[in-house]
Amino acid sequence: MPELPEVETVIKGIEPKIIRNEIIDFKKYSPKLRYQIEGNIRNKIIKKFVKSIYRRAKYIIIVLEDNQTIVIHLGMSGRIIISNSEDRIITKHTHFLISFSNEVDLIYIDPRRFGLIKVIPSNFLFKSKLFRHLGVEPLDRTFNRKYLKRICENKKSPIKSTIMNQKHVVGVGNIYASESLYLAKVNPIKESRSLTTEECNLIVKYIKKVLNKSIKLGGSSINDYAMVSGKLGDYQNKLAVYGREGSICRKRSCKSKILRIVIAQRSTFYCPVCQK
Ligand SMILES: [Zn+2]
Repeated sequence: MPELPEVETVIKGIEPKIIRNEIIDFKKYSPKLRYQIEGNIRNKIIKKFVKSIYRRAKYIIIVLEDNQTIVIHLGMSGRIIISNSEDRIITKHTHFLISFSNEVDLIYIDPRRFGLIKVIPSNFLFKSKLFRHLGVEPLDRTFNRKYLKRICENKKSPIKSTIMNQKHVVGVGNIYASESLYLAKVNPIKESRSLTTEECNLIVKYIKKVLNKSIKLGGSSINDYAMVSGKLGDYQNKLAVYGREGSICRKRSCKSKILRIVIAQRSTFYCPVCQK
């Protein structure tokens, strides 16, 4: 599933191709996604220029003129391809395409169909039901030791569930939660309320570190994810615990095997010796 670094990488790939260009067409092929693709999208976006493009949580946000914003989520297996209109290839998993005045197509492909596209008035965007309950961005200053300590207070839930809860902090998906807890030496099953301030400090520090590093490497290419160019990300080669069940811990002095457990129905990988 594309996580925050993957979405950030997709945005970096799209932005230079579509920014300040005019939308000249919208075609929908297979309307069934997480939400049915609305019928009136074309009317809302046609003949509008792209003003900016950025990420909030795992949403790709394309701001247009005239108070319209396109929101795209990649779901479990969504991919965006940028191609020349002349070379356009439509497959059975193509759901929609947006054509731009510079003869570029943005094509959305999603075999598992958990993604979405919506057009929302720009001035209502963060009041809409997709966004209004979202917590802070993990790479913002507002996500800090104090904030994490406060949300952990009185919570019996495992720390891994707390940092993956989008109401508190967005975009820390399964891979990056396991990785940052390993680096912070905190057991993923530990009760949130029992964390010390120093542990909160380390968790925050390593969440930012693993996300930034993964963004730099173009994300992790696990489960179908690829960049807009079709190139694969590199972060999967850097993973310390995720997907390494039964392998020896990467810390030199540690001979323990990495374990896999399930927390809130998600596979969780950790070292029982390094993570207390
Ligand atoms: Zn270890």
